Amino acid sequence: MNDYSMRTLSICLVLCMVFQANAQLTTRYEQSEFTETATYEEAMNFYRALDEKYDEVSILTHGQTDIGVPLHVVLINTGKEKTPQELSQSGKAVWLINNAIHPGEPDGISASQMFARDLMENKNKYQEELEKVAIAIIPFYNIGGTLNRNSGTRVNQNGPAEYGFRGNSRHYDLNRDFIKSDTRNSQSFQELFHLYDPDLLLDTHVSNGSDYQHVMTLVSSQKDKLGGELGKYIDEVVLPHSFDGMKKRGFDAIPYVNAGRQTPDKGWTQFIDLPRYSTGYAALFHTIGYMSETHMLKTYKQRVESTYALMETMLDFLGEKGEELVELREQTKRSVSNQKEFEISWSVDTSRFTTFMFSGYEPTYVESEISGFTRLKYDRNQPFTKEVEYRNSYKANKVVTAPNYYIIPQQWRRVIDLLELNQVEMSRLEYDSSINVEAYMIADYQTVRNPYEGHYRHFDVEVSAKQINLKFRKGDVLVPVNQWRNRYIVETLEPEAPDSFFAWNFFDAILQQKEHFSSYVFEDHALKILEENPDIKRALDTAKAEDPRLAESANRQLDFIYQRSTHREPEYMRYPIFRIME
Ligand SMILES: [Zn+2]
Repeated sequence: MNDYSMRTLSICLVLCMVFQANAQLTTRYEQSEFTETATYEEAMNFYRALDEKYDEVSILTHGQTDIGVPLHVVLINTGKEKTPQELSQSGKAVWLINNAIHPGEPDGISASQMFARDLMENKNKYQEELEKVAIAIIPFYNIGGTLNRNSGTRVNQNGPAEYGFRGNSRHYDLNRDFIKSDTRNSQSFQELFHLYDPDLLLDTHVSNGSDYQHVMTLVSSQKDKLGGELGKYIDEVVLPHSFDGMKKRGFDAIPYVNAGRQTPDKGWTQFIDLPRYSTGYAALFHTIGYMSETHMLKTYKQRVESTYALMETMLDFLGEKGEELVELREQTKRSVSNQKEFEISWSVDTSRFTTFMFSGYEPTYVESEISGFTRLKYDRNQPFTKEVEYRNSYKANKVVTAPNYYIIPQQWRRVIDLLELNQVEMSRLEYDSSINVEAYMIADYQTVRNPYEGHYRHFDVEVSAKQINLKFRKGDVLVPVNQWRNRYIVETLEPEAPDSFFAWNFFDAILQQKEHFSSYVFEDHALKILEENPDIKRALDTAKAEDPRLAESANRQLDFIYQRSTHREPEYMRYPIFRIME
């Protein structure tokens, strides 16, 4: 081979390599004229190529998912910190982006790929922001659902051609699993969440529901539930910046349209992000949370572009205000460590609302050709823009005074494991001890009729408290309520909180009585109890006078006595985590 052909070959090789690298860094979304989204393998190969090309990009593995494929994070950081632990010490703002929790809603998958690449290809342009912010992208959270690719399950969605399925490989909706944590996906997420301790979370989605003109709508941490200075900050600083930034980028974003069965032209109430959801979980740790909810009837291109615009907007915010947010979270962590009163459930404050401009389509009602009944049809020939009411204030309907410690008998291992996973500080009793505690008796509760995410969830839980002295064993767990993760502790351990472990069936065994009496044997003994305990007799007489069902049932009357006697097992209906008040 002569010099000339040698040189030609080398040029060709270099060009081929450049071409190949560029091809690897072009997304399926771009290759398909904005109509398709990457498969799991394609997107992971894309990120591997990005990782290879740029020192600032690294792919990290954080635990497993139910399908047996590990959970990955693509970390973009221009600083020298290469691990989440180093990052959390660095004082840099950390931004976590979660994609494909609902893989049928893949806008964020495509947007994240391009966003990560464009940041690296335009490092100079974003230099200032990237010095202040590290970005951790979960390319796919629900990997099992992503691998279950199809083109039918998003019946109301306008593309892409194929996408993953909402449920994970065990048919769980991961965006309800942040507290009960039935899936390995959730357990791995919780572990990585605390490693990165993000200041801001973006969880990407596509909405269902009514038709309107806006492409992007935003679920954000509810301000009153987030509470304190951070609650004020999201309302007065973060959200206005997001809406302004989106407008500048050509997208008139609005709050998530939570109109339920109503049409949105009369306004709506803000979605309350309970801890079972990503942003609600994040709020327990004072992380500002967003779910981007693009409108399902817009094209895939419009939706991906608006999700990308939101990412640019958020980067812009963190570049400008990241330090302020980090400092505010630090302050919040300190003040929450000393907090004694905790709001644990909320309802909308109907007396308060704000307004914003809503661009919708006129709802009309026509006869259904299927049922003959009236059906709703949004008339796209009648667009409108008008001011609507947005009821975005919530008030606490339950406040509890936290104990100094919760004490958890060691046999409630799943609870202890979850607290550990969430880095709650705990200690173990060194000796068997008798301790004065406040015990909760479950006074009332309702249960859903149909299974919800693998659970018969309880709601409207009411407790009554009593002081008792109880024996605890060496190894039982003490949880001091003096730490920055207090809100997680209180909102999972207080049974009346809507997403408490109690509500999620962790303690259902105590709701069933284990020993019973035989009426014919107990009858004589019960008479003796009444003779020896005039207070029980009085109570029975009063109750009989008030409750005809009791008055007319011999067995109910015996049970009334049994429940008030020393024969009744104390564990029945007694919440098995106790409060130490002194
Ligand atoms: Zn979703």
